[in-house]
This record gives sequence, structure tokens and C-alpha cells, in this order.
Amino acid sequence: MKYHIDTIPVWDAYHQGGECPLCNLENRLEKSYVDSFLGASVMEPDTRIEVNKTGFCPFHFKLLYDAQNRLGLALMTHTHLKEFMEKFEQRCKALLKASKDRSTSVLSSIIKGKKEVNQLTAEFEGWLTMQHGQCIICNRMSNTMNRYAYTILYLWDTDKEFKKALESSKGFCLKHLVLTTKIARETLPAHKQTLWLTDIIPLQIKSFHNLEHELSQFINKFDYRNQDKPLGSAKDSLPRTIQKLTGKFMD
Ligand SMILES: [Zn+2]
Ligand SMILES: [Zn+2]
Repeated sequence: MKYHIDTIPVWDAYHQGGECPLCNLENRLEKSYVDSFLGASVMEPDTRIEVNKTGFCPFHFKLLYDAQNRLGLALMTHTHLKEFMEKFEQRCKALLKASKDRSTSVLSSIIKGKKEVNQLTAEFEGWLTMQHGQCIICNRMSNTMNRYAYTILYLWDTDKEFKKALESSKGFCLKHLVLTTKIARETLPAHKQTLWLTDIIPLQIKSFHNLEHELSQFINKFDYRNQDKPLGSAKDSLPRTIQKLTGKFMD
């Protein structure tokens, strides 16, 4: 897989600092997609066709709903619902017909009849689950996040200044550590993958240790004997630890 590089936003995310530069990028990206889906994209024919087909996942539906453009969201949801209903009714008719045929044609064997109807129902469940899990924002974000992760690896490999910035960062959250490891596996030769891991693993371990220390300072502060001790950077260690573990900002 070949990805285009996109250096400016990646540099910006490293300058922003924090627990994970890819979380910084993802957060910005998510906000811009939510804005665009409730703005100009509502009327773009290509986007509408895609939204009609996929819809949004529960998380992105909620973000769009909270953004308060109820007309834009209602228009997109309405045409998506109509397209879904058409496919749903076709599937249901086919399921009912096949189910009736199977359960009556194999009466000689109850076990065989049950097995065949179970298989049809399982296929229907699979199709429904797929409809429920699709999301145009997730799809678009995933493509762009792959490109950002690839850009990080490219800059690490070719730009000494960037390598220094990466080495003084806090590594990544777990979600984006998985992403960078995957893109490194897909795009780097073996010896470079080893060099990448040699650089990134100590950063991760150091970052987890620092967070653990800060979180324990934060907990100790609840003891009245420590009330006057300054918290410093440990003040926001709980949301930063959750972000490190999940890839989601808490604010
Ligand atoms: Zn992250
Ligand atoms: Zn989504």
C-alpha cells in the first residue's frame, strides 16, 4: 500500500505536544468532518450517495446530533433511512421465502431443517451488523490517519529534525501505537522496522512510567495531609492517562 505524505499537519501535531500526536491530528480531523458533514457536504451529490449507503456509526451520529444542525442531519438521515429500508425489505422478503422453503422441504429431517434456517438467520444477522457498523466519517478518518502515520514514519526516516522531535515526544496512545506499528510493518523493510521499534519502545515505556507517577501523585493529593502540596503537571494526569490508554480526549 502506498500512501501520500502530508508533512505540515504532522509537524503541527508534534509542536502541539501532549500524550499522542496522532490523537491531536485525529481530534482536529473529526471536528472538521463533523463541520463539513453539517455544512457544504450535505448538498454534495457524491457525499450524499455515500452517506445514503453507509450512514454513521453511533459515536459520529451523536457528535453530529450534538452539533445542533438538525435540518442538515435530518435530510441526510431521511435519505439514508429510505435507502436502508429498500435493501432491508428485499433482504427480509428473501429471508422469509428461503426460510419457509427450507423448513417445509426438509421436514423429513428436523435437524437438517434447523441447521439450514439457522444459517439463513446468521447470514441476515451478519448483514444487519454490517449495516449498523458502517460510517462514512470513520472510513474517511481511517484513510487520512493511515496517511498521517505513514508520514510520521517517512519523516522519522528522512528528516533529522523530525527524528529529534519524535525522540523528545511521549510516543503514542495505545490505539495509535497499533496504527504506527501496522503501517511500519506494511511499508518498511525488516531492518527499518527494527530501528523504528528500537526508537519507539523506550519512549512508550518512559511515558507510561511518567503517567503512573503523576497519577499516583494525583491520588495522594486526596489525602488531607497532602492538601497543600502542589500538583504541577499531575493535575490533569487522569484525562491524559485515559487518553493514553484509549486514544480519546476526555474534554
Ligand atoms: Zn493517539
Ligand atoms: Zn464513525
